[in-house]
Amino acid sequence: MGVLRVVNLGVKVGEKKILKNVNLFIKEGETFVLFGPNGSGKSTLLNALIGNPSYKVTSGRILFKKVDITNLPTNERVKLGIGIAFQNPPKISGVKLIDVLRYCARVGGYGEDKILELAEKMRMTDHLYREINMGFSGGEVKRSELLQLMLMNPDLVLLDEPDSGVDLENVALIGEAIRTLLERDKEEGERTKSGIIITHQGHILDYVDADYAAILYNGRIACIGEPKDILNQIRNHGYEGCLAKCLANM
Ligand code: ADP
Ligand code: MG
Ligand code: MG
Repeated sequence: MGVLRVVNLGVKVGEKKILKNVNLFIKEGETFVLFGPNGSGKSTLLNALIGNPSYKVTSGRILFKKVDITNLPTNERVKLGIGIAFQNPPKISGVKLIDVLRYCARVGGYGEDKILELAEKMRMTDHLYREINMGFSGGEVKRSELLQLMLMNPDLVLLDEPDSGVDLENVALIGEAIRTLLERDKEEGERTKSGIIITHQGHILDYVDADYAAILYNGRIACIGEPKDILNQIRNHGYEGCLAKCLANM
């Protein structure tokens, strides 16, 4: 069964049309990797999926678990089971990490003990009573985002460049966290969690068993294929070369 279906999606930010005609279908248990040059609209797509009001849907529909969520507010989407880790999450003065984690734990149905257990796992126990993201290092920001997601335990995880701006040790920790996030309910080898992961360098592919990948280019999705294969093609031929090749093969 399909968990997420995006049909002919167009999105604008301000007066600028960013996404033109995006189609996407993700089944239960599938992980989809999205590559693409800077400014191609990858973050825009995730913001549209979570319902960030700055990103206006101009055409098409978003269906999640058979519910049309195109016009639902963000909190309703979160309740339905979509979670996001932003590329550049905001610093919020006056709001402590622990306050946000308590909200996330309520969404996921967990208590205080789970907050502490997972904070320890993500090495964030020293940060619980600090204002969220204020003075956090790149790795700490990403670990904090992952910790929030683990507590919300969403069915569809949206990850915007979780491996950007972090050192190798952090990539390992983050990679393991994403793997558990996507396999949380694993029974008899079946995965039930779905994910969309945006990555530039592809480091995260060493940790996560992704099913397929594509390139977002000029507001459209192209070149769907096996994640490591697409990554190698991007490394060898660049985005333009890759697109020229896959268009020639169509
Ligand atoms: P990517 O994540 O692929 O690098 P983005 O989705 O962040 O690309 O951006 C796509 C385009 O939309 C860029 O030209 C960017 O400047 C513009 N854009 C994205 N978000 C905003 C925003 N909040 N305000 C104005 N322009 C935006
Ligand atoms: Mg970018
Ligand atoms: Mg981005």
